[in-house]
Amino acid sequence: MQTPELARAESLIRTIPDYPEPGVLFRDITPLLADAEALRATIDAMIEPFAGQFDVVAGIEARGFLLAGAVAMAAGVGLVPIRKAGRLPRPAASVSYALEYGTATIEAHDDIADGTRVLLVDDVLATGGTIQAAHALVPALGGVVVATSVLMELVALGGRAIVPDVHALFAA
Ligand code: AMP
Repeated sequence: MQTPELARAESLIRTIPDYPEPGVLFRDITPLLADAEALRATIDAMIEPFAGQFDVVAGIEARGFLLAGAVAMAAGVGLVPIRKAGRLPRPAASVSYALEYGTATIEAHDDIADGTRVLLVDDVLATGGTIQAAHALVPALGGVVVATSVLMELVALGGRAIVPDVHALFAA
């Protein structure tokens, strides 16, 4: 539900045209992160539908880490970083996926017990490729994705068609 606190938090997301390349409307969440009330309202709302349903939060590099750290503390669970290729010393699993130009790979360490219930967290759902890849990665670690929570969905990019069950706090 959109509360005044959440409406204010949404208003703090800054849209920057043509970053990092021409034609992209970049959604910059740093003003929201810098505001204590907005950050608290956002984190609470990202967790609320899934309270008690997950044992660990998995945050997707890089801005997903910022949200996942706060989610972990607020929910009293641990945190698994899902990193871009080559950044972890001992990755147990990796998944490659298509980008508009080329491919990307995400990796994670195997630090969770089999059957661990995982909440996936990222900042933005765009084409959905990243979250779809994370859905494939978590089972390779022995975890079960119980839900995915993002701050913002970019509706025109159609990610929901490939990852239909994502919970998005804001839509643009
Ligand atoms: P996708 O795999 O296309 O859904 O892209 C999602 C990832 O790319 C997320 O981790 C976002 O951080 C980032 N991303 C994609 N588009 C944008 C955008 N317009 N503004 C900010 N971040 C974006």
